[in-house]
Amino acid sequence: MAQPQSWEKRAEEYSFYGFTDLPSVHQRGTVVVTHGEGPYIFDTNGKRYLDANSGLWNMVAGFDHQGLIEAAKAQYDRFPGYHAFFGRMSDQTVMLSEKLIEVSPFERGKVFYTNSGSEANDTMVKMLWFLGGSEGQPQKRKILTRWNSYHGVTAVSASMTGKPYNEVFGLPLDGFIHVGSPHYWRFGEEGETEEQFTARLARELEEVITREGADTIAGFFAEPVIGAGGVIPPSKGYFQAIQKVLKKHGIPLIADEVICGFGRTGNTWGCQTYDFIPDAIISSKNLTAGMFPMGAVILGPELADRLDAAVEAIEEFPHGFTASGHPVGSAIALKAIDVVMNEGLADNVKRLAPRMEQGLREIMERSNHIGELRGVGYMWALEACLDPATKTPFDGDLSVSERIANTCTDMGLICRPLGQSIVLCPPFVLTEPQMDEMFDKLEQALNKVFAEVA
Ligand SMILES: *Cc1c(COP(=O)(O)O)cnc(C)c1O
Repeated sequence: MAQPQSWEKRAEEYSFYGFTDLPSVHQRGTVVVTHGEGPYIFDTNGKRYLDANSGLWNMVAGFDHQGLIEAAKAQYDRFPGYHAFFGRMSDQTVMLSEKLIEVSPFERGKVFYTNSGSEANDTMVKMLWFLGGSEGQPQKRKILTRWNSYHGVTAVSASMTGKPYNEVFGLPLDGFIHVGSPHYWRFGEEGETEEQFTARLARELEEVITREGADTIAGFFAEPVIGAGGVIPPSKGYFQAIQKVLKKHGIPLIADEVICGFGRTGNTWGCQTYDFIPDAIISSKNLTAGMFPMGAVILGPELADRLDAAVEAIEEFPHGFTASGHPVGSAIALKAIDVVMNEGLADNVKRLAPRMEQGLREIMERSNHIGELRGVGYMWALEACLDPATKTPFDGDLSVSERIANTCTDMGLICRPLGQSIVLCPPFVLTEPQMDEMFDKLEQALNKVFAEVA
């Protein structure tokens, strides 16, 4: 149906797609995007979409934030690019590290920069491996993560990710171990309370540690709220229970805050929302409000001191990316942190999160096919379900969530199908009328698709 010279045709002819269902692209074409306004994007046909996924969770200040654009322009004028190797580093990078430690839950610490969240997780793993080696524990290499978690796509961060699709790459690599997901609604057993479920996960974690040997485990990584696994907040008391087990065995807890960090859950960090202090934080996505590729490993005091000592001993940490600590990225990140924290964006999330929950709950109550509403702040998921009473899912062949998302796209609302759930994580600038537009379109799409399949 696409014309030979159409944008859709040109996109398919020359671009290789990632994380894209090709049959659906062949059938529906590619949305080629030209520009944005607030939480909206526009395609080459001039059609407007409310992007209720903030791009990929990251465009939290919307798609045309003037303050951020000005900060980028000013830094391009002043000093458009540099690295952070060989004892050199831009002034913007120095200031960003100070700022990140200031806003972190740590009294002190150190920051290392990457270009993405995947690379930041990869870097953290290399830091832990380096520490093991230099502290006389070279066997301390195994990495624990949870089933259904998402930590990225490099060979290491994909191995950490708990998704079956990485089998096509022969991943995970050896030594990457996945423990249970804290999704009570789905995995809680008959008659088990949420507290008992949490206690069981902590026991199972301890069994894995004992089985593998605590002295072989380098670290445990967890998203405060599992994001790309379908917005799964932790079960009650989860982080307190597992951190106790990890501390007992001397295993660092790394919070992958790539989605949760900088306001998504209503606080600066997800670990604040769930009341725990990790040993290190992985940040990306919101760090630059999506306007520059950048990631950061933020080490708390203990890991920073141990790494410092280990590096001093061999004089150099042999790791870094050409664009690590890019001055423009650093300038944008400094501005993004200021905009989110001091110009009302995080406050907007805090203020409107209950409204978002309420609106989605009403949609759920009016529908016969939503099994669970879950989320926090500005990250929510509705789980489609053939029979909510028995938690029976729809037949996978029906592709229910994909149909809902496609129907929304046709109506000018972008949301994301993940498993059988629909994920909504709008930009923090979303206003009340825009939220209502999101509710209206979503409910129309749900009604249409459920009428077709149920
Ligand atoms: C997106 C994401 C990553 C990977 O970040 P990229 O920049 O895509 O490499 C890692 N962890 C979490 C929790 C994420 O959501």
